[in-house]
Amino acid sequence: MLRGFECEHELYAREILRKKGLKSTAQRLAVVHVLHTSEKSLSVGEIHDGVKKILGTTGLATIYRTLEMFEDLGIVKRLHFPDGGYGYTFSQGEHVHHMICLACRGVFDFPECPIKSLDYTSAESQGFYVEDHSIQLFGQCGKCREQAVC
Ligand SMILES: [Zn+2]
Ligand SMILES: [Zn+2]
Ligand SMILES: [Zn+2]
Repeated sequence: MLRGFECEHELYAREILRKKGLKSTAQRLAVVHVLHTSEKSLSVGEIHDGVKKILGTTGLATIYRTLEMFEDLGIVKRLHFPDGGYGYTFSQGEHVHHMICLACRGVFDFPECPIKSLDYTSAESQGFYVEDHSIQLFGQCGKCREQAVC
């Protein structure tokens, strides 16, 4: 048994991995831990650094593979920034729209889905059936705005 990765987030990830017949390796759990303990979205390099702090040497290729797998499993969400960069945030599969601070890359949840009640009739009249949507909001968080003022 792996010790030290037993918070609700790790248990959640373990359960998903187990259902898919995948092993909860120390690296995988360390990636979950690094992501869920961060308030901001993290780049692959930052995740790699965080995992190295916990486990010592870990190959960057492993981190890339783990993130790809986690994205497929819905354990992480990949966020795309307007400058073309991207980062990752922990996800428990809930339908949520992220607000991303462009100054600190902090990730916040928009209180509710803004287009939940959108009327799709116009799309359906073209024969298109809408199944899902994704919206990311960009701006500046409260902390960064305060710092900018003084
Ligand atoms: Zn943890
Ligand atoms: Zn910020
Ligand atoms: Zn929505």
